[in-house]
Amino acid sequence: MINKIEEYDVLAIGFGPANLSVAIALEEQSQSKKLSYCFLEQKPNFVWHGGMLLNGTRMQISYLKDLVTLRNPTSQYSFINYLHSHNRLNAFINLGHQNPSRVEFNDYLSWVAEQFSPNVHYGQRVVSIEPIEDDGDVSKVKVISSNIHGDKTVRIAKNLIVGMGGMPKLPKAFKNLNHDKVIHSSKYKIWQETDKELPSNPKIAVVGAGQSAAEIFVDLADKYSEEGEIHMINRRFALHPADDSPFVNEIFDPEFTDHVYSSEQQERDSILERFSATNYSVVDTEELNAIYERLYLQRVTGKGKHQYLRCHDIQEVGVKNNQVAVRLKDQLSNEQNWHNYDAVVLATGYRYDEFNHLLNNLEPFMTKGKVERNYRMPMKENCSVNVFLQGCCESSHGISDTLLSVLALRSQEIVGALLALENKPKEAAIS
Ligand SMILES: Cc1cc2nc3c(=O)[nH]c(=O)nc-3n(C[C@H](O)[C@H](O)[C@H](O)COP(=O)(O)OP(=O)(O)OC[C@H]3O[C@@H](n4cnc5c(N)ncnc54)[C@H](O)[C@@H]3O)c2cc1C
Repeated sequence: MINKIEEYDVLAIGFGPANLSVAIALEEQSQSKKLSYCFLEQKPNFVWHGGMLLNGTRMQISYLKDLVTLRNPTSQYSFINYLHSHNRLNAFINLGHQNPSRVEFNDYLSWVAEQFSPNVHYGQRVVSIEPIEDDGDVSKVKVISSNIHGDKTVRIAKNLIVGMGGMPKLPKAFKNLNHDKVIHSSKYKIWQETDKELPSNPKIAVVGAGQSAAEIFVDLADKYSEEGEIHMINRRFALHPADDSPFVNEIFDPEFTDHVYSSEQQERDSILERFSATNYSVVDTEELNAIYERLYLQRVTGKGKHQYLRCHDIQEVGVKNNQVAVRLKDQLSNEQNWHNYDAVVLATGYRYDEFNHLLNNLEPFMTKGKVERNYRMPMKENCSVNVFLQGCCESSHGISDTLLSVLALRSQEIVGALLALENKPKEAAIS
């Protein structure tokens, strides 16, 4: 029996917060014209950065920057309505926090995701996108996805919204090292829960200088408080605090996206650099102080062997007696030493260029040039398929692009553009 191939006006790849926000916008904004749509998500169910859902971690933004409030404060999908539905509104107010715990925010996102489940196909990793050509014109694409067993499904779409998030970024030295005790931070919690082979007093390296590295260092140092030896390896001299002061926070306001987008590339790069301390290689001040105090207490009590290895550069890695051997150079003393670790956690961030690989086959139909303000990729006239990008437009739209702050409004812009393009005659829509 041949299965019917499903066809959609809009097919969205990934079902993280970005496309979840689009799901809400599609429901709330498409009153006049109903578009058919679906979401393909590679995970078996909704979870937001499950590998980093550690106890005690908090959101780095206000709960008011949820999936919808900045666009539609009366939406049923707001964080406040989630609290109300779970009979926790008063208790949450009593907590006195603007920033919910990450565990609670994941629960909020999962609650919204559940309401859209009829439109989501979980366990479907999009592996390829192919243009369907008709006399040189392309008005549809084939989207091929694979389940965990490698079984493929083909769907057809007139428009795509890509919201794949980031892929683990590995330091050069680790790229060719295949060892089950080298773990990227995105899988940290899963590894912690399943790895039963670590000794009771492990020596573990955490590579990185950002929020995830700090959280993992604290988690491991708590777990192996006096028995283990946890090294936090950082190329820089110090851990730096995240800047979340109010004037600086204005760079996450929607108007700032307009400013960044309309600036010249050189100015955009300079803005990214000037404000990188809001997001990159920085640690929440409270967490940073707690780490300093913990290391200080070790000196007072003489107990505990955890270390912050500042100005340390990884020169070479290998495997020795099934441990991960790392040659470190201390930039201050110029000394080099080998350390054998029971595990190495790479909290070294993410890259956001995977969409290029997925859209490879559409390249002949794209024009060179910047992504449009409404996140649509510029396409040639013979292609009416619209491809919208989320989370990979930092260089054109600014530092908020990979974060949550812009989701509510970005989804409005994308869905608004889609509806306008669908309603207009083809020639007008493309120009
Ligand atoms: C630990 C952590 C904490 C964070 N905390 C904050 C915070 O407090 N505030 C903030 O503003 N930002 C935060 N961020 C930034 C983060 O990027 C955003 O919170 C948010 O996850 C972005 O949503 P997204 O949908 O673009 O990407 P993701 O959340 O990464 O979702 C993308 C989804 O696409 C799926 N996918 C990828 N490729 C495919 C494919 N080929 N086929 C099918 N599905 C695919 C993935 O499985 C994933 O579910 C945090 C990031 C991390 C790692």
